[in-house]
Formats: sequence, C-alpha cells, structure tokens
Amino acid sequence: MNILKFGGTSVGSLESITALLGILKEQQGAENPIVVLSAMSGVTNALVEMAENAGKGKIYSEEMAAIEKKHFEVIRALLPAIAQNPVLTKLKIYFNELEDILQSVYNLRELSLQTKDLILSYGERCSTVMVSHIAKQTFPNALYVDGSELIKTDHNFGQAKVNTYLTESLIKDFQESNPDKLLFVTGFIASNDEGRITTLGRGGSDYTAAIWGSALNAQEIQVWTDVDGMLTADPRMVKKAFSLSELSYTEAMELSYFGAKVIYPPTMIPAFLKRIPIVIKNTFNVDFPGTYIKHGAGSSKLPIKGISSIDEISVLNLSGSGMVGKAGFSGRLFSMLSREQINVILITQSSSEHSITFAVKPSDALKALALINKEFELELQARKLEYPEVENGLAALAIVGENMKRTPGMSGKLFHALGRNGVNVRAIAQGSSEYNISVIISKPDLSKAVNAVHDAFYANLKRTLHVFCLGTGNIGKTLFAQLEAQTTFLATNNDLQVKVMGVCNTRKMHLNEDGIALNNWEESLENDGEPADLPLFIKKMKALNLPNCVFVDNTASYNPIQFYKDVLQSSISVVTCNKIGNSADYEQYAAFKQAARTYGVDFHYETNVGAGLPIIRTLKDLMMSGDRIHRIEAILSGTISYIFNNYKGDKLFHEVVKEAQDKGYTEPDPRDDLNGKDFMRKMLILARDAGYPLEEDDIKIESMLPPACLAAATVADFYQELENNTEYFEKLKKRAADDNKVLRYIGKLEAGKVEITLQMVDDGHPFYMLSGSDNIISFTTDRYKDRPLVVKGPGAGAEVTAAGVFADIINVGKR
Ligand code: ADP
Ligand code: ASP
Ligand code: MG
Repeated sequence: MNILKFGGTSVGSLESITALLGILKEQQGAENPIVVLSAMSGVTNALVEMAENAGKGKIYSEEMAAIEKKHFEVIRALLPAIAQNPVLTKLKIYFNELEDILQSVYNLRELSLQTKDLILSYGERCSTVMVSHIAKQTFPNALYVDGSELIKTDHNFGQAKVNTYLTESLIKDFQESNPDKLLFVTGFIASNDEGRITTLGRGGSDYTAAIWGSALNAQEIQVWTDVDGMLTADPRMVKKAFSLSELSYTEAMELSYFGAKVIYPPTMIPAFLKRIPIVIKNTFNVDFPGTYIKHGAGSSKLPIKGISSIDEISVLNLSGSGMVGKAGFSGRLFSMLSREQINVILITQSSSEHSITFAVKPSDALKALALINKEFELELQARKLEYPEVENGLAALAIVGENMKRTPGMSGKLFHALGRNGVNVRAIAQGSSEYNISVIISKPDLSKAVNAVHDAFYANLKRTLHVFCLGTGNIGKTLFAQLEAQTTFLATNNDLQVKVMGVCNTRKMHLNEDGIALNNWEESLENDGEPADLPLFIKKMKALNLPNCVFVDNTASYNPIQFYKDVLQSSISVVTCNKIGNSADYEQYAAFKQAARTYGVDFHYETNVGAGLPIIRTLKDLMMSGDRIHRIEAILSGTISYIFNNYKGDKLFHEVVKEAQDKGYTEPDPRDDLNGKDFMRKMLILARDAGYPLEEDDIKIESMLPPACLAAATVADFYQELENNTEYFEKLKKRAADDNKVLRYIGKLEAGKVEITLQMVDDGHPFYMLSGSDNIISFTTDRYKDRPLVVKGPGAGAEVTAAGVFADIINVGKR
C-alpha cells in the first residue's frame, strides 16, 4: 500500500484537484492507497493571521470571507449541483464554528496556543471534507477521516510530540475496520489525551503521511507538491537549482532542517525506522521521476547534495571566564532552552571555551535572552559571564551531503565562494557527522551567497558572470557583439554564461535584474533607460547584490576611475581598458591593486597596453615565476608605427599623418598620439607592473616633433606647422634611408628608468621589421637574456581591444 500526501498547492485550485484525481486513478490497484491532505494553499497562513488579529482585537472578516469563497468556488466548479449541498452545509458548519471561536478570542483579546491549534485545524478539515466529497464522484468508496482522532500527542500545542505506540495501533485498527474504503485523511492535526486538538508543526502534513506509512507498513510514502522533488537549493532563490534523484534519510533531514521546506524534517524519522522510501513528486509534472529518499541511496558524484538556507535567524553569544573549564555549562544552557521549547538551530563554541554562539528563530530570541538572564543570574552579576545580546537580521546557509565526508576541500570551496563575493561569515558550525557545514551570514547577503555557493559546487552547470558595462562607444559596442556571438561557445566550452545586467553611457543608463538581451541592448537602453547617473548606477549595481560581478569600464574618461576602489571594496571585480586610472598617481594605482587583493577580487587591465596583445599578462607571469626584468623595449603607439612605416618615397610627413587620420588610426585629435602622451601612459603602467613606483614626471620623453608643432593651438594649426617643418622631417627620413635604417619611436625601461626616444634602427634590431600599425614589445630577463621574449601584433582598434576586454572578463570567471 502507498501513502499519497498532497500539499497545499496540490489541493489549492480546480486544476490541481483535477490532477490529484488523475494521479489517484492512475494508482488504483488491488489495495487502496491512503490519501493525506493539507489545507488549501494560503489557508493556514490566513488562519494564523486571523487568529492573531482577533487576539489583538482587530477584525478578521475579510479573510474569513476569502477562505469561504476559495472552498465554495471549487465545490461549485467540480461537483454537479445536486451533490453540492451536503458538502456546502458541512463546510458552512465548520465556518460557523470557526467564527465563534474567533469571536471568543476577539472578546477576550487572548489567543492561547491551544486555541490557535484549534483554529488552524479547520484548514485541513475543510480541504479534506471538500476533496473527499469531490472524489466520491469518481471513487464511490471515498471516506473522509478526521486524522486528529487517530494521532495522539502530548500537550505541546503548536508542535506536539506523537505517542507513536498508541497512534499506530489506532491507525491500524481504523484501517482494518475500513478495508474497502479509500481514506482521505486530514494532515497536520492530532489530539492529546484529553481530546484537545493539537498540531504537528507547520508543514506537518508530511509527517502525518509518514506516521500512517509507518503504522501500516506502507510500501512507499509519496509526497506530492509543486516542484520536481528536492532540489539542490530553494528554487525561489536559485534559478539554476535542479532536482536530486536520490537522497539518504540523513541528507534529506539535514536539508529540510536547514530550510528546504519541501519536506518537514520529522517526516524522515518514521520512514527511516521502517525503511519506507519517501518519494517527492510534482503534481503539475506527473511524469517527472522526482526525488527518492531511501536507504542505500546510490552515492552520486555530486560533492554536495544541496544548499539550504534559513532566511531569518537571531544569534545570541555567551562569553566570559565563567565558562572556561566548567564541565556541564553548555549542558545547563541547552537543556534549559530545550525545556522551555526553544529550538536551537545551530551552535558553535570557540575552542578556548570562552564563548558559545547559538542561533534561534527571531520569535524565540527575546525569550531565550530572558531565560539566560534568569538562569545565569549569579554568574552575570559576578561578571563571570558577559550580559548576552541578541543580534538580528542574520541568515543561515548550510551545504549538505554524505560525500562531503570523503572529499577534502569542501569547506575551502565554500569559504572561497563566500569570500570572493564579499559575504562576511559571522559563525561557522560543522556537524560531527560531517554531512553538513553551516554558516551564519547577514540576511541581505543570503541570495547572493546561496547562488555563489551553488555556482561553486555544481561545476557541471554554467557559471554566471554578472557584468555591468560603462561606455557604448566603439569598444563597448564591439564587446557586446562579441559576447552575443560567443554565447553558445562559452556555454559549451567554458560552462560559462556572461550576463550583461547593466549598461551606462554618458546619456543614459539601464539595469535589468533579468539581464539585458544583447541583440537589442541599444533599444533597451534607449526605451527603458533612465538618465545617466554614474553614482546611482553603481549604487544600483551594488544593491542587486549578485554573485560573480564584473564592472567593465570601456570609456576613456576620468569620471569612472574615482569609483574603482569603492567597487573593488564591494567585492566586485573590475575590468578596464581605460588607461587613465593606472597612469595617474602611483598611490591610486597601488590602491586599486591593494583593494583587489584585500577583497579577493580581480582587477584586470590587459588592454591598457597594446590592446588585446598579451603584454601585461606576460609581464605578470614572468615576475610571478621569479624571473627578473633587465630591460623592456617597446613600440606601443600604433599610430606612430603606421606613420613611420608609410613615411617613405615622395610622401611628405604631414600627408602621412593626414592619411593615418583619414584611415581612423589616430585619436580624433592626432596631436594626442604624436605628442607621446599615450605612449608615456603605457610605459608608466608597464614600469609600475614591473615593480617601479614611478610617476609621470619620472619619464623622459624625447619629442618626435619640433616645438612649434607641439605648441599648435588647433588641429588645423598643427597640420600647418607639420607642413612648415617639412624640411626637418625630410632630413630625418633621408638620414635614416642613407644608413639603411628606419625611424622608430621606442620606449625603454631599464634599471628603473623609462625613456621614450626617436631612434633609427638597422635590420639587426628586432624592431626593424614592423608593419602597418603593429605594436611590439621585447622583454630581456634572467631567462630571456640572449634572445628577448617578443610579443608583436596589432595593438589598436576596437575589434582587438574588445577581444582583450572579453578575455579579461572570462578570466574573472575562471576563479
Ligand atoms: P506543499 O504545500 O506541497 O507541502 P511546500 O510549500 O510546503 O509545499 O514546499 C514546497 C516548496 O518548497 C517549493 O515550492 C519550494 O518553493 C520550496 N523549497 C525550498 N527549498 C527547496 C528545495 N531545496 N527543493 C525543493 N523545494 C524547495
Ligand atoms: N497546512 C499546514 C501548514 O501550512 C500543514 C502543511 O501544509 O503541511 O503548515
Ligand atoms: Mg509542505
């Protein structure tokens, strides 16, 4: 025989009740199953609210009417008119009783736990009467059973303890006297030895099913709900959560204890003792196999089974010398709390025994505090204990799985994921079973933390990077196009998803919690965007509090730089092609690096030097592996390379500059390239990365232009001056040609000094052969002494720069 328990949503609507009947039909066999039902979804919560309102002297009639309507609508829709009356009458009687009880609570302004249980019991009684009557149309042997008469408990209203022996015999006897009936049993409710209604704790219908299963030695306990079984995390918080096919009883217990509300923790106990499998199935996806909880659950390859969380806890910390070496101190504390019905969710004790931290439900916190103050009054007065305080606004997260015991590095992985995302861990507990590691964190960080941990542990799933981009010029645009084109590649080859969550340019900004579609980001920015406001953009980015975030600066402006440090300190990685930040004060450059190190995030700026060419990365790898840099020589201005490579034959200098500008190789103002400033910035960044704390003034620049050209007030004047100095340039060209040399503007770093000079090099020099607008850089080091390490290739242009930014973003995802 099977027990089929249907939860609130499975009896919450016409559709679900129809689906429920279908499931019953499907399972009809030689033996009748036992059907256990919850209250219709939302009804128990509404009853709690009504009861509490009545106790405070507030009206509750609206909720009352809504509950009635909810039931009556189903009855009218699913039963033919002549069959409606008996059930409507029965429910009406229940509602009248309920109103009378609420009225008394209202009059007395007093709500005891006993009365509250009585009020809540109407949820299950109404739904089960209703469904059993509807079921009678299809199953004439359907019988309503008030389960409260068969499950006997103690007097602990709200969460009563079951008298198993008595209960099992009552259930067995009842079932034996009704062998041909299809029983529809109310979940959740029970009664004590005086016949007063008690309840088994919120979510307790699952437990009712297990109690019946145990009493009748059922083959299987089926828990029908609204999700595909037990998932790796709460699906409302983690979109990528997936269904687990098998769990051990312990794993299911730990997951549900720490918040996976899909099954009520005590449910596992009777099932475990009688070795009855529990299967969690989806009423709305009947064919999906769901989750089996059973003995000998096959060990899966997953390092952990799931991540559970409790979104609201309070923490108390007890400390003081009075605890050190005092055997039985914690025993006294926790037995006192348990005696007073306070459920302690998690405990950690420091190894010095100097303090104990424990977590409880917020509603228990003040009571726990008062109890401690009373119990330890003498110790507190003698200052052997500090007066404890309640800390609110906290949450708990637990990773659970039997494989954890066998796999080293699990806690490392957990704390790495939390640390990298700026989640501060307040307390840690590891169960002695090693099936569970739990941490206490602040409540606003919970969703980010659970998602980050989920990403870290389920490497088979795509990791998601959340990207916020500044700048929609050439580079920004190209980056979006590249990201869009590579979506599938990234997913299949790197298990990575890059989601653009925000875009901001000088005019507008737009953030979207679901991500911005890359095939029409321009329209979304235009139509859904708001006026640009960079501080607000950053504030909103932080407020989303997403895991694995990257802030991408694709601008060339001063404005964003001032926010880098703050962004890094918010545990958000920064990727930038904007050179201004790293080439301003050394102090600022060092602060960026320090912030990234301290907060465990990345600061990537490969494109600051030579666009997408691997220059910064190469230098870093050399330095990190212990090589020593003797000399770096480089040509890092694509514009100047182009000009010198084309300044041949009859062409005049100013004509080549114009040609370079027309082809888009120069900045809008060509003076910005030719005055060497851009080159200087790149050399400065290289020198700093090579370990020299230089400032702009430390760099010697030999101008490649005569002073008059540098002094030109406008671009037109500049061209005029270049033309006026034709003779100067022609001379240079001739001198070089006569010696079989070429002109090169070369930066050099040696012994901590940087200079940029105009040189003529012959064909023995590695920079002689340089075509188009290419960049070249050579590293002479301990290891590359005789022949330098050379990196060469196109060092400018939107396509290669965006590709470099892209690579930097992906590199954030690798950690
Ligand atoms: P029922 O009314 O059927 O008893 P519940 O609302 O008590 O259903 O439990 C099912 C809900 O539990 C799901 O809708 C889901 O939102 C939530 N839930 C939380 N954590 C998990 C998890 N790890 N796996 C599945 N569901 C979970
Ligand atoms: N209706 C009860 C509750 O909401 C019991 C249950 O659904 O399992 O807590
Ligand atoms: Mg439930």
